[in-house]
Amino acid sequence: MSFASQGFCPEIVQALEQCGYQKMTPIQQKAIPLARKGHDILANAQTGTGKTAAFALPMLQSMVDKPQQRSRRHVRGLILAPTRELAQQVADNVAQYHQFLPFTSAVAYGGVKMASQARQLEAGVDILVATPGRLQELMEMNMVSLAQVEYLVLDEADRMLDMGFIGDIQRIRDQIKLPHQTMLFSATYPPKMKQLAAELLKKPKMVSV
Ligand code: AMP
Repeated sequence: MSFASQGFCPEIVQALEQCGYQKMTPIQQKAIPLARKGHDILANAQTGTGKTAAFALPMLQSMVDKPQQRSRRHVRGLILAPTRELAQQVADNVAQYHQFLPFTSAVAYGGVKMASQARQLEAGVDILVATPGRLQELMEMNMVSLAQVEYLVLDEADRMLDMGFIGDIQRIRDQIKLPHQTMLFSATYPPKMKQLAAELLKKPKMVSV
């Protein structure tokens, strides 16, 4: 199955060409059509399967399909990742995918000063990739608002649970006020994960590779 069959706009198709992607990986073939229909997704996929594009591309296309009329940018897509390394890697991929679109994205993780992350958020970003702990800190300091978030992604959700981020994730979710689409990616499904999925997802479509 080709990316073209998914109705992506020319800017996304051009970005995928530049990335050298020719056909969808199995997780992309399964998750993208369901995500494009607006379903919540519960996906079982390891790193290296192409999962980043599986959640990021439908999110970007939905943002293109529903342009925002606001004069100021707000976070519309929020991607949570367990570690600084993964958050940076996801953010790098997302930036490649939206390079020809008029969107901005940023990454926020702990262990570094907050100032430059805060400055970027102040200027306004459409897509934020963050570790839960740092996002929670930024929220407490009123440096970011999640009031306009329409897409929530949890990447490597099992690792976030292992790292003790459950409380942060619940508090973050509670700040999201708009109806939103949620996609949860996890390599394993321990009982704690099933509970979190039940809290976060509405009638999810299950996908595994
Ligand atoms: P991920 O699992 O998202 O970390 O992706 C693993 C690697 O596969 C990354 O280097 C991606 O750029 C690459 N990738 C993702 N989707 C495709 C695709 N459809 N065709 C070729 N490479 C891909």
